[in-house]
Amino acid sequence: ENIIHNSKLRQEFTANVTHELKTPLTVISGYSELIENGMAGQEDVQRFAKEIHRNSNRLLSLINDILQLSEMDVATNTSSMEQIDLYEIATNVVNMLELKAEKHKMMLHLSGEKSMVFGNRMMLEELIYNLTDNGIRYNNVGGNVWVNVNHKDNHTILTVKDDGIGISTEHQNRIFERFYRVDKSRSKLTGGTGLGLAIVKHIVEHHEASLHMTSEVGEGTTIQIEFGK
Ligand code: ATP
Ligand code: MG
Repeated sequence: ENIIHNSKLRQEFTANVTHELKTPLTVISGYSELIENGMAGQEDVQRFAKEIHRNSNRLLSLINDILQLSEMDVATNTSSMEQIDLYEIATNVVNMLELKAEKHKMMLHLSGEKSMVFGNRMMLEELIYNLTDNGIRYNNVGGNVWVNVNHKDNHTILTVKDDGIGISTEHQNRIFERFYRVDKSRSKLTGGTGLGLAIVKHIVEHHEASLHMTSEVGEGTTIQIEFGK
């Protein structure tokens, strides 16, 4: 079963992707042409370069997400499932994102203990990465992201909690849709494409896990994923 499992969804997805790719490319092409033709004044050049830079970053992150999706298709099909320590994966992800958090003057906290999950390594890594990345991205200077992996009985529970901007109830159900972003301007600034949580949802389903979210605007967001029943 593919992440984009039927042809109608696939068509819709392709149309969305094409649109999302075209928008930043149009900006890049337009501004660089103005500079090339000498139609940009001295003071315009820097502003145009900034737009070109911002839109290139957006393209890069979009392409990354699309690659993730297609890797996921492969992973789903070949699906090598094994017993994996989720705490070990969380440790790797936190190490990967440490620098990004520091750069934005935020703190990453990891806690928990060895907890086994029957799953796909690459998918589980992407799952924790996307949630932690969101915790950093939708946060304020001085903010925190807590990642915890624990188990009770034969359940393993992953908790990613932040004290960031939060999500209002009207948006909470929709953020798992592909390309859905609450604040397009903020996401543009941070380079988000709105695919991260769609990927998370897919991975949760693939592992027959359950997802629970609580969030309050201005307070923060907590996402809990429970494996194994
Ligand atoms: P990317 O595909 O790069 O992850 P993204 O972060 O915009 O882009 P998602 O991860 O799918 O996409 O998130 C969708 C939207 O949900 C975000 O744009 C943001 O508005 C909101 N969101 C997600 N996580 C959080 C969070 N922890 N706190 C506040 N808002 C969030
Ligand atoms: Mg994201």
